[in-house]
Amino acid sequence: MATLKAVRGTRDLLPPETALWNQIEATARSVFARYNFGEIRTPIFEDTSLFSRSVGEETDIVSKEMYTWEDRARAQSEKAQSLTLRPENTAGVVRAYIEHKLGETGQLQKLYYIGPQFRRERPQKGRYRQFYQIGAEVMGPPSAGSESPLRDAEVLEMLATFLDELGITGWTLQLNSVGSAADRARYNETLRAALAPLAPQMCPDCQRRAVTNPLRVLDCKVPEDQPLIATLPMIAASLDDASKAHFAAVMAALDAAGVPYVRNDRLVRGLDYYTRTTFEFTHGGLGAQNALLGGGRYDGLSESIGGPKAPGIGFAMGEDRLVLTLQAQQAAETQLAHAYLAPLGEALNAPALRLARELRRGGLRIELGDGGFRLKKSFDAAEKTARRIIILGEDELQSGILTVKDFASGVQTKVPRGELVRFLSAPTHE
Ligand code: ATP
Ligand code: MG
Repeated sequence: MATLKAVRGTRDLLPPETALWNQIEATARSVFARYNFGEIRTPIFEDTSLFSRSVGEETDIVSKEMYTWEDRARAQSEKAQSLTLRPENTAGVVRAYIEHKLGETGQLQKLYYIGPQFRRERPQKGRYRQFYQIGAEVMGPPSAGSESPLRDAEVLEMLATFLDELGITGWTLQLNSVGSAADRARYNETLRAALAPLAPQMCPDCQRRAVTNPLRVLDCKVPEDQPLIATLPMIAASLDDASKAHFAAVMAALDAAGVPYVRNDRLVRGLDYYTRTTFEFTHGGLGAQNALLGGGRYDGLSESIGGPKAPGIGFAMGEDRLVLTLQAQQAAETQLAHAYLAPLGEALNAPALRLARELRRGGLRIELGDGGFRLKKSFDAAEKTARRIIILGEDELQSGILTVKDFASGVQTKVPRGELVRFLSAPTHE
């Protein structure tokens, strides 16, 4: 009998790795509690129309990635119900908000969730068919302040705090505003016109999007399409004054709180319900799947699925990608440095710091010694912490030619200063 395996795109999480998952979840619970969020758990499957009406018919998720089936009818008179494994959790939370009349409390609802989501995507590093999200939503009636830009800034500041407490370094917050529903509609028409002559040269998905939902073109990941996408008009020009003021207030609050961000005019998100603020936290270490998390404001979502006016903002983090990032960081921390730089005499300390700065800015991991050490002490320290040693003496400084000794092979190589980064980045010969 053929052995059974976990289905493509799904996997088992085993110890010791599960300890890391628990640590991430515990950190999320602890940070979110300090912002006065409470946990919500919604069902793993929902009525299919919940997703088609909220996420949007024309999105990749609804058009091709959902696990949907017809549930058996209980009686002959009953119609079979179309059910879907949740591809994301915001729709379920908003449905629950409406169903339990949480808006009638008059208070802001601040809810977080942790759990599996399902999308039929092509599995690759950081992309699975069953994956895990940690997310949160802040929503409520406008009288509770749910439209305030302060809520957006608070959520972003909470995310920065969470990533910092988790120990993830080197993240970037990318921020944009896609405006009100009317702004988006206006921009969609501008894009449609701009895309008409370009679309035939683009990928098949973009050719379809150019007609059905032009905004989605900006979300395209095909490298060949990017130069064309770069020529398209920006959404900032389509924002009305109220949306511009809202966005400016979000940025002012982030500046005041000291949360760094970069504006990305091309950032639109893969779901139709977003309005105004949209954001992603990205991380260079993840490769092509570089988004750690994404989110934004969704002022009309509740109404679009039959609920009361309940503006809100939320996010979803890819827990799988948090795990990958932490694992890569831990591996890097136990790695040897690319090189140990040993200044020959204290007079060379300052020039050595300058050279170390050049190399580190080139992306290298450099251990900087001290000109006060004897050569033997430098070599001992270098062998413990780095793969190679570079001696910087007066001669090397003058000639600009450095000698690099590789510990594993014992080989010494003379390298011009301008080529050191390239030389040291190459793998060492064992
Ligand atoms: P991407 O552009 O990477 O496909 P997305 O725009 O589809 O992301 P969202 O739907 O906003 O992302 O989901 C929020 C987060 O969930 C993403 O930033 C990512 O970290 C994670 N995520 C989304 N899809 C997957 C998947 N198939 N496998 C693992 N993580 C995922
Ligand atoms: Mg996606």
